[in-house]
Amino acid sequence: MNEIDYGNPQLRKVYDYVIVGAGPAGCVLANRLSEDPSVSVLILELGRGERPAFSEPPMLGPMLMASDYSFGYETERQKYGCLGLTDRKCSWTHGRGVGGSSIINNIIYTRGNRRDFDNWARAGMEGWSWKDVLPYYKKIEHANVLTLDEILRFRNGTGPLTSNSIESLLYVKSPFASDPDPDLPDVEVMQSFVSMSFDSSISTSIVYRLPEALKRDYYGPLMGVRNFMFLPMLMKTHTVGRVELKSRNPFHHPVFHYQYFEDERDVEALVYSIREVLRIAEAEPLQRLGIELYNRPVPGCEGFVFNSDDYWRCHVRTQTTTFQHQVSTCRMGPVGDPDAVVDPRLRVRGIGRLRVADVSIIPEPPSAHTCAMSYLIGEKAADMIKEDNQ
Ligand SMILES: Cc1cc2nc3c(=O)[nH]c(=O)nc-3n(C[C@H](O)[C@H](O)[C@H](O)COP(=O)(O)OP(=O)(O)OC[C@H]3O[C@@H](n4cnc5c(N)ncnc54)[C@H](O)[C@@H]3O)c2cc1C
Repeated sequence: MNEIDYGNPQLRKVYDYVIVGAGPAGCVLANRLSEDPSVSVLILELGRGERPAFSEPPMLGPMLMASDYSFGYETERQKYGCLGLTDRKCSWTHGRGVGGSSIINNIIYTRGNRRDFDNWARAGMEGWSWKDVLPYYKKIEHANVLTLDEILRFRNGTGPLTSNSIESLLYVKSPFASDPDPDLPDVEVMQSFVSMSFDSSISTSIVYRLPEALKRDYYGPLMGVRNFMFLPMLMKTHTVGRVELKSRNPFHHPVFHYQYFEDERDVEALVYSIREVLRIAEAEPLQRLGIELYNRPVPGCEGFVFNSDDYWRCHVRTQTTTFQHQVSTCRMGPVGDPDAVVDPRLRVRGIGRLRVADVSIIPEPPSAHTCAMSYLIGEKAADMIKEDNQ
């Protein structure tokens, strides 16, 4: 695949700023810091070079995920989830190259819920309230749409920033959410215009860890039939995990200690949202389109009455997948919070001249997809660094 060629720039001996990792947050940070021509910035990226921007057809996502643009991480063997997947493991793949996970992601852009940010600010994370972050989002969302054709493409949802798989989103507040605020949802349901049956190539099976029998017997009969999926995504999980280094070798993958559905409320919230989706699908507007529920039981759940709550519990535990929104591994917290890695200005506690600026600082799982937040974090980090150096 073609990469942009930047020639062979001369490396300096000293830089004002060194940024490790050219994910979305790192790229935005580098861009903003280097706006001042007197400042030198070195950005180091472990993975591949930059690909020219183009709109990704759905096929390309899994292909890139199965390539060396991806770390190919996987979870440890699961006890309560991913049960129908190869080796009972879920894929935790992450982008590896200039652009980070935005190279392989699904291009869904959500700012997040204002209540999350206001909760952070109330907990003492000064500068992160909705009022504080909104101007950054507006700055990020500035697009250079110049021609009538481009304007029409954006309005019709076909421009380069259109999701490669998702058409619409709906939000659900389940009775299992820990935050009582009715306007802070814990589940998002994505309506995808494709299902796993769209791709007969090996990539989908590899990246989603689908055993051959599942692909053939469950998704196979849908091939050539117009079909789509509702994908309920639990945003506010109760189950918590942790990441550990496997060894001193920086090239070894880390160990992800995370057991999906260790906390039963996570399954129940998803089953509740499936019921909500079925209620909507049975309503007149969708019925008019002739929508029918695919009623072949997922392999492994044949013992349950189809469409019962127990069937859906089994389905959720068997066909588990993720949108890779892992956060909070270098959590931000108010000054003096002993469990926080960084303070609200993203400075690492106890170490001078070192900040963390990526989605790992997000203090708790947000009601959002995380890419927009990574741009926001890059923007805010740049401003805070500039302010602190004045
Ligand atoms: C398959 C997938 C689908 C997703 N879909 C969506 C979506 O549709 N919408 C959405 O909002 N979010 C989505 N996400 C999540 C979103 O893409 C991430 O939250 C976001 O990219 C995180 O940005 P980041 O800058 O924090 O880090 P990353 O994107 O993880 O980038 C980190 C970068 O650092 C590099 N790096 C790591 N270690 C080193 C090192 N030691 N030295 C040098 N470089 C290093 C990595 O190679 C990588 O390029 C998805 C993620 C994945 C993986």
